[in-house]
Amino acid sequence: MSQIIVRPDREKPIIHRHPWVFSGAVDSVRGDPQPGDIVDVVSKNGRFLARGYFNPRSQIQVRLLTWADEPIDGSWWRQMIGRALSARIQRGILPPAVRLINAENDFLPGLIVDRYGDHLVLQALTLHIDQRKTDLARLLVEALAEVGVTISGVYERSDVDVRKKEGLALQTGLLWGEEPPELIAVQINGTIRLVDVRAGHKTGTYLDQIGNQAFLDDFLNQRAIKGDLLSLFSYTGGFGLGSRCQITQVDASLPALNLAEKTYQTNQFPMNRVEFIQADVFELLRDFADERRRFEVIVCDPPKFAHNAGQIERAARGYKDLNLNCFRLLQPGGCLMTFSCSGAISTDLFQKIVFGALADSGRSAQIIRTLSANDDHPVTLTFPEGAYLKGLLLRVY
Ligand code: SAH
Repeated sequence: MSQIIVRPDREKPIIHRHPWVFSGAVDSVRGDPQPGDIVDVVSKNGRFLARGYFNPRSQIQVRLLTWADEPIDGSWWRQMIGRALSARIQRGILPPAVRLINAENDFLPGLIVDRYGDHLVLQALTLHIDQRKTDLARLLVEALAEVGVTISGVYERSDVDVRKKEGLALQTGLLWGEEPPELIAVQINGTIRLVDVRAGHKTGTYLDQIGNQAFLDDFLNQRAIKGDLLSLFSYTGGFGLGSRCQITQVDASLPALNLAEKTYQTNQFPMNRVEFIQADVFELLRDFADERRRFEVIVCDPPKFAHNAGQIERAARGYKDLNLNCFRLLQPGGCLMTFSCSGAISTDLFQKIVFGALADSGRSAQIIRTLSANDDHPVTLTFPEGAYLKGLLLRVY
């Protein structure tokens, strides 16, 4: 096996089980590893540190799979997939809409797998996973059969920009079994969601938010809150669907809003209680402020503003401005559920930004709950980069 020898001053994160070995940490390469090959990562004095897969084209030259001297073979993958599935079984069943494998955060760098009913959607983010994806699709189907879940097809949605950093083209299509239907109807939080796995965002929908959507529904229903709810960056309308509020859903994407409307109809939501507005949120918020509109509840779930550390400052200004405008539209005693999905913005920094916006608005607020992704999106403790989604539910006076 080829060896990647790391610089002594860069050993520590590897020993501490951070899964990435950056090019700057590499001292030298022994052997002739090909892109995608399994390699050993060793210290300068020859001590085995970890084993992973290699891609010299990427800044992240090795993604680590194990810290034990064990073979990375079919049975290793079966075991790791089995571990991820077991962690998601609730009351003996695997939820019908669930992230099954969350890449680095399930100790399987580069691999995302989501379940929507009897279809799986797979994202191969790295070269090694791409080389192995057909095998992985089959292993997944077998592992699911063992826990009583029959899968009819595995669809690939490897149309994510990070692949370019691996020297890979974007790719989508059927990997195994049958084509998915145009829309997959799947139970989420006691409602029916329509998921377009071919063209929807991510693998079809934002599975990371379904716990927060359920929490919001319960929170509003338990308090008999039925006032005006504004859902900004609504995508297919997951926030509010289980509530009794008068809802305004806003998104820039017309296909998303059309699917949202269809979803509300499918769930027999009274259509006089929901409005879908295609608009740029930033412009619409200014219009609403001019019109002196007020809402009892606002959900603000924007796309990623900071794609790397260099964009933090600009992103912070964006989040602050957005949250300030939300505070201005909230009636006294109203609630703001506000999110950031930028990995580069820490939970701490996000709270400070929202505080800054609150201070500028001259309002008071309480944190009712701090929010993160659902527990099918675990965060490996040794990989803080995994904690990208953070949010706050505030009551605002
Ligand atoms: N809240 C959603 C996920 C939101 S993802 C859910 O829980 O499913 C971010 C959304 O913001 C996307 O649907 C995207 O179409 C939309 N978007 C991005 N920029 C926008 C803008 N400037 N104005 C309105 N919508 C925007």
